[in-house]
Amino acid sequence: MKRRHTANEVVRRENEAVIFDPSAKLKGTISKIFHIFSDTEVSTQEPGIRHCQGISMRNEALTVYISGGYSNKKRDMPRSSCCAWFEEDHPLNTTKRINVNSRPAADIAATLIAVQKALNFALIHVVTTSAYVTGTFTQYCTKWESRGWTDTKNEALVRATLARLRQRSAVTTFQWVKKEDATPENKKPATQARDTLTEQEIEDLDLSIPDPFNLTGMELATATQALVGKFWSKLPGYEDRGICPKCKTTEDMEHILFQCTAPGQKLVWRLAQILWSRSKWKWHGRNLGLLLGSALIPFPPPPNTASENSELQEANWQLRRKKMKRKKSNDKLSKNGAQRLYIILLSKSAYFIWKLRNECRIKHGSDPEFTHPDTEIENRWYNTIDTCLSMDRAMVNPAKFGKLAIDPNLVLKTWNGVLHNEDRLPDNWIRTPGVLVGRGYPETGGKSRHR
Ligand SMILES: [Zn+2]
Repeated sequence: MKRRHTANEVVRRENEAVIFDPSAKLKGTISKIFHIFSDTEVSTQEPGIRHCQGISMRNEALTVYISGGYSNKKRDMPRSSCCAWFEEDHPLNTTKRINVNSRPAADIAATLIAVQKALNFALIHVVTTSAYVTGTFTQYCTKWESRGWTDTKNEALVRATLARLRQRSAVTTFQWVKKEDATPENKKPATQARDTLTEQEIEDLDLSIPDPFNLTGMELATATQALVGKFWSKLPGYEDRGICPKCKTTEDMEHILFQCTAPGQKLVWRLAQILWSRSKWKWHGRNLGLLLGSALIPFPPPPNTASENSELQEANWQLRRKKMKRKKSNDKLSKNGAQRLYIILLSKSAYFIWKLRNECRIKHGSDPEFTHPDTEIENRWYNTIDTCLSMDRAMVNPAKFGKLAIDPNLVLKTWNGVLHNEDRLPDNWIRTPGVLVGRGYPETGGKSRHR
């Protein structure tokens, strides 16, 4: 108790992020340990690399700024609202006029919609100027729960939010920012929430408590499947925006991500395909169907090498069986790794193209001739993928990520064959500094070692 209290004091003083501990309930006790670390440590072990923004994989972090709005100028006629703001023009940004009876309740409601919007698989950073929100979810909620919620204000809201937080398969962190330290991003949701107070239509909050069986850690494949599909299937609402100014044809999601003649689209997919060609696996192509279903693509095992076969024949049957077994599980891990890389490349590339397109339209909307230079696209794309690699390397640490830590062997398999100067790296390169993905086509004769 003493320790948590002290920990929270530190957080309040230094505006650091605190991890929400989803296992608190599973352990059956009030959580004893809180991991506290600074922003840079959350994102990566290497200095200078930040979270990339966006949605798709668990190794991608998403920052969401939240705020409630509340006013009771006419007594007994309170008005309330809440806002979850990700970044400018982000499709998940949400502001609602709601019906709660206090400012803190509106802040919790903002947390709830942020968690409902952000997909389970994305690591999210909740940033707020409400100490009530951070205190509730990093300090008090387990205590309230153990007392049966008898003395909890806003019980329904807190419980619904807590259940959603526990259901997430990725890490959630909370960061409290003092009002006087608020950045423009911190102020964004507060302004939007305030502006929404005057709206007439009140929206219901979803206070349902999801199935308790999904407490933690969905399998990668299913979660990614749900995640990728959910995100992109939301976006077709943007079809209404009409005609692509470059191609003069209808601009739907398929067009933006896979057909547009604006420079980003083709180049990004070429880069993805070049990187993939370093692995030993077949490229399955790219289209909206594959993007939505990328977790279901079957990966055949890589062809056996001659030496492996003869080796297997030589061994006696017991040894052979042992080897077969080991080979089987190794093949399975290879397949999972390959599939993971495929999902990363597909979803990252698609999201990156979407971002480039938005930058053209929104930031440079007044200049229809604007295009991103190829070198910029190339550098940013490699940075995006390198950041995923760094996140993967950071996420193998069970001391920091507990049950959410990724199996280091899976990380090794995922990136096997696609790294820069891979033959000069040690077999286990996870802790080797400066590991990057390879650029350009692989040099001929380059071999991957682990498949
Ligand atoms: Zn176009």
